[in-house]
Amino acid sequence: MAELALFGGPRTIAEPFPPYNSIGRDEIDAAQAVLESGNLSGFFGSWGDRFLGGPKVQEFERAWAERFGVRHAVSVNSWTSGLIAAVGAIGVEPGDEVIVTPWTMCATATAILVWNAIPVFADIESETFNLDPAAVERAISPRTKAIMVADIFGHSADIPALMELARRYNLRVIEDAAQAPGAQAGSKLAGTNGHVGGYSLNYHKHIHTGEGGMCVTNDPAIAERLQLIRNHGEAVVAKKGVENISNILGFNFRLGEIEAAIGIEQLKKLPGLVEMRYKTGLRLNEALRDLPGLQVPVIRRGCTHAFYIYAFTVDSDITGIPRERLVEALQAEGVPWLYSGYQNVHLLPMFQKKIAYGARGFPWTSDVYKGFARYDKGICPTAERLHDRELVCLQLCQHWYTDDETDRVIEAFRKVWKHLDKLQQPAVSAKPGSLRTLYG
Ligand SMILES: *Cc1c(COP(=O)(O)O)cnc(C)c1O
Repeated sequence: MAELALFGGPRTIAEPFPPYNSIGRDEIDAAQAVLESGNLSGFFGSWGDRFLGGPKVQEFERAWAERFGVRHAVSVNSWTSGLIAAVGAIGVEPGDEVIVTPWTMCATATAILVWNAIPVFADIESETFNLDPAAVERAISPRTKAIMVADIFGHSADIPALMELARRYNLRVIEDAAQAPGAQAGSKLAGTNGHVGGYSLNYHKHIHTGEGGMCVTNDPAIAERLQLIRNHGEAVVAKKGVENISNILGFNFRLGEIEAAIGIEQLKKLPGLVEMRYKTGLRLNEALRDLPGLQVPVIRRGCTHAFYIYAFTVDSDITGIPRERLVEALQAEGVPWLYSGYQNVHLLPMFQKKIAYGARGFPWTSDVYKGFARYDKGICPTAERLHDRELVCLQLCQHWYTDDETDRVIEAFRKVWKHLDKLQQPAVSAKPGSLRTLYG
């Protein structure tokens, strides 16, 4: 058996995999056609037939709505913009609380602050790393207005349980499906089960337009408010005869025609790209599930996984070595895009110091907020434990894996696991003898 690459042995994956590129001839032709038309944006910031964007933007939205089985799709220039529009569109008031997961990209939480509402973090499940409905229920207060869910790493949150809570407590559910476009969640697709949801189209996601995003909803009133927030609604409401003008103030969240034309082509590729990732994830699961101390990603019944990230946990009491050492050994074998932990948004300096607008603690210190939101370490014990000690992320979205390449990743894992005893260090909290028990 060859020596570990970490100790000078041969690397299992000698050449780095080429970065993946989903942009091809179709996108180039589509972008060029828009350039030749000279019409790079069809939007006008006043009421009229150009208020809803140009021909490519509207075509992209129709195609998205059809593919995702929703009544309305509203494009935006990023999903960060989409999250801000979504929080505004459901009518969040200053001082309201919105329950949010700590395991997400930070914009999921900051979109709440944009409307001077207060993010309240609830803990995650240790299986799917998504919001834990029981923790959400404990976090509900008289001020709670909504639940902000992220389908993290590509697997839908427990939407049936969260929607049931929403019904019982009269809350709205916003679903951040940036990492899970095309993943199945029950009879529908991830992102379409809440009151409003959406997707990112930034360069790093399954499909992209460079920058961009898409909101989805089945509620025509929410769709209209998304459109107004996207495009300087305050200038439009009088002429359009809009009665509910709360949270309708001036943003420009409009997507360009070139991006929309590229998006139309990318959307056609989405099912194939997600299918490919799903197959890669299942192949890894099959091959890695018997490695002692490694828990492969869980896929719930009725769900599929978009595997934006292949996230697994390692139990160092069983492996006998710290997570960081394992990751180091796997990286040395050439396993690409692999790192320890994810992130806990509640521990960012902004929440620790409660400094968002100005330097004096607004909106937490404002008179409109009557609550007690806290962000101390310890409020999300599962999220913190997993981040600090157990979780490892293998970013599948960086590459389009062939079966052969997947098998080499598997080979690297198996090689490292065969040599666990060599990786053990004196400083480790391993239980003595655990390896001997497992290996013979
Ligand atoms: C990428 C991402 C976002 C932000 O999307 P942008 O289009 O970059 O603004 C938000 N939430 C999650 C979970 C993401 O992965």
